[in-house]
Amino acid sequence: MADFDFDLFVIGAGSGGVRAARLAALSGAKVAVAEEHRVGGTCVIRGCVPKKFMVYASEFANQVKTAKGYGWAVEPPRFDWKAFLTAKDVEIARLSGIYVTNLRKAGAHLLHGKARVIDPHTVEVEPKEGSEDGGRYTAKRILIATGGRPTKPDFPGAELGVTSNEAFHLPELPKRILVVGGGYIAVEFAGIFNGLGVETTLCYRGSNVLRGFDDDIRSHLADELEKRGVKVILGCSHQSLEKTATGLVSKLNNDITLETDVVLFATGRAPYVEGLGLETVGVKLNERGAVAVDSYSKTNVDSIWAVGDVTDRINLTPVAIREGAAFAETEFFDRPTSFDHEAVASAVFSQPPVGVVGMTEAEARHAFGAVDIYQSAFRPMKVVFYGGQERSFMKLVVRQDDQRIVGVHVMSPDAPEIIQMAAIAVKMGVTKAQWDSTCAVHPTLAEELVTMREKYVQPGVGTVA
Ligand code: NDP
Repeated sequence: MADFDFDLFVIGAGSGGVRAARLAALSGAKVAVAEEHRVGGTCVIRGCVPKKFMVYASEFANQVKTAKGYGWAVEPPRFDWKAFLTAKDVEIARLSGIYVTNLRKAGAHLLHGKARVIDPHTVEVEPKEGSEDGGRYTAKRILIATGGRPTKPDFPGAELGVTSNEAFHLPELPKRILVVGGGYIAVEFAGIFNGLGVETTLCYRGSNVLRGFDDDIRSHLADELEKRGVKVILGCSHQSLEKTATGLVSKLNNDITLETDVVLFATGRAPYVEGLGLETVGVKLNERGAVAVDSYSKTNVDSIWAVGDVTDRINLTPVAIREGAAFAETEFFDRPTSFDHEAVASAVFSQPPVGVVGMTEAEARHAFGAVDIYQSAFRPMKVVFYGGQERSFMKLVVRQDDQRIVGVHVMSPDAPEIIQMAAIAVKMGVTKAQWDSTCAVHPTLAEELVTMREKYVQPGVGTVA
C-alpha cells in the first residue's frame, strides 16, 4: 500500500462514484474523489432532483383546476419562474453540500478538478479555477464514474437549441417551447413546461413516445399528454433551425414549420469519456462508446473499474449507486458482489407518471410465447368527481406456464410510488395467484392492480395466447 498515494481514486462525484468512495473509505481505505463540476453529479445538480422539483411546481396548475371541481374558489394563479429557480438552486446547493459532508465524514479526500488517467495507477488532476488540487496522484485502483452528457442531433442550426442541462436555468419562462425526442427526458419536460403554462409541442421521430416501454403504456401516455394540452407530432424530424426576430423557426419534415421561443433537445445522452485518457491506458469502450465492464464493473485493465452511466448498462441513479456499492463490497470488504440488473423498476415523471418493472407484453411473448394479460383503463374516482377526462392504465404480464408475473406497467397518479412496492413482489417471483391473494386497500388507485381477475381479450382477436 505504501507504494500508492491512495487505495482508490474515483473520477466523478455523482451517485455511483460517491457511493463507492464513501463505502471504500468507511472500510479504512485511503480514498480520493475528483470532480470537475459540482459534487452530486447529474442526478442532484442537473437531473432527477431538480427535475422532480419542476414536476412538483408544474403539477399545481392541474391541482388548481381540480380544486375548483371540489368546491374551492380559486383566483387565477400566477407562477413566478425566477422565484422558483432561486428556491430550487438553494435546495440543490444544500443537497450538494450534504454529499460533500458525507464524503468528508467517511474520510474521503475531495479534489476539485478534471482528472485524466496517465497510466494504470496514475491520475493527473487539472485543478478548477481557484482550487489548488492539481497534480499527479497514484492509486492502487481507479474507478471511472463520470456519467453521461446530453447529445444534440446534427442538422443546420441545431446549436440554437438547448438540452436538459440548460432547461434548469432558462433566464425566462418561454411562451412557446418545442421539445424534441420521445424518451424519458422529452415526455418529462413536455409535461413540466405544459403545466407551467408554456405552449408545448413535442416532436418525436418514431411511431410513438417511450420506445422500449409497453405499447399500451406508450399509446395511453401519448393520449394523456395531448389531453393535458401538449401537442404531440409523431414521425417528425428537423431539417433546420433558424433564429428570427420573433423566435426560433423549426423546419420539420412534411412541410411543417413551427416557431417557438425555445427548442429543447431531449435526444439521448452519451457516456462521458472525453479527456479521461482511457485510450492511453488501453481501456476498451463498447460499440456505443461506453466503458466496457464485466459483471463486477471491472474494465479490461486490471486496476481500473467503471460504474454508472459511463458504462451505459441501465442509466438510472439507483443502479449507479448499487453498482458503486457492489464494487466497494467486492474490493474493500472482501465480499464479491455483482449487481443484478434484472427486473429493475423505473419511473417516468411524465404527467401522468409511469412506473414499470419487468417485461413488456411484446418482450414476454418473444421470450416465452404464451402469456396472460390483465389490464384496466379507467378514470380515477378523484377525476370522475369533478368531471375530468384523465384516465389511468394498469397492466400485468403473466407467463402462462408457471403463472409468474413478469411485468407490471402502471400509468396513473402516484405510479412511481406504486411500482416501488410491486417491484419487490416481481423480484421475488410472485405468481398471479399469490398476487391476487393480497387483499385490496380501499379506496385507492393501486387496489385495481390486485383486483384484475379477467384475462384481457384483444378486441377482434379472440383469446390472447
Ligand atoms: P432516451 O434514450 O430515453 O431517449 C432519447 C430520445 O431521443 C428517443 O426518443 C430517441 O428516438 C430520440 N433521438 C435520439 N437521437 C435522435 C436524433 N438524432 N433526432 C431525433 N430524435 C432523436 O434519452 P433521454 O435523453 O430521454 O434520457 C437519457 C437516459 O437518462 C434515459 O434513457 C434514462 O435511462 C435516464 N433518465 C431517467 C429518468 C428517470 O428515471 N425518470 C429521467 C431522465 C433520464 P428513438 O426512440 O427513435 O431512438
